[in-house]
Amino acid sequence: MARQLWAPWRLEYIKQADEQTGCFFCEEGAGSLGGAEESLLVHGGESAVAILNRYPYSSGHLMIAPSRHVGSLAELTDAEVIEIHRLAVAAIEVLGCVYGPGGFNLGWNLGHIAGAGIDDHVHLHVVPRWSGDTNFMPVLADVKVLPEHLLETRDRLRAAWE
Ligand SMILES: [Zn+2]
Repeated sequence: MARQLWAPWRLEYIKQADEQTGCFFCEEGAGSLGGAEESLLVHGGESAVAILNRYPYSSGHLMIAPSRHVGSLAELTDAEVIEIHRLAVAAIEVLGCVYGPGGFNLGWNLGHIAGAGIDDHVHLHVVPRWSGDTNFMPVLADVKVLPEHLLETRDRLRAAWE
């Protein structure tokens, strides 16, 4: 059911994935995807980055990834693990200030079968949740779940992160 609801996004995703060469996280993390204007990079750290999800489950859906192209959690260095955790904590604070969601889902999707769109560069999802958001999704997917343009969201989160 949920899968079908997201068909419009899925189509866009497939279209872009075909055109796109290389790794989304490496390119977006370096700010080189779509240029500065369209970059969804919200925060770049020493060894990890926070990027807005182009195909969000909800407004402000962020992903925290190591800057290095790493395909498994076991390969992360201690420094990367710590920074990813700190960026996740900062993301929760920033999203809390800007949007005031009722809660968050955090998680790693490892492997395509588990829902990872990109499975060779690990990333932690930080998904803000609102009371009743899943209930509204079937009826008003575009309107309710994505009330704000991605680039506006990016600018607000960047400003709040500083
Ligand atoms: Zn990569």
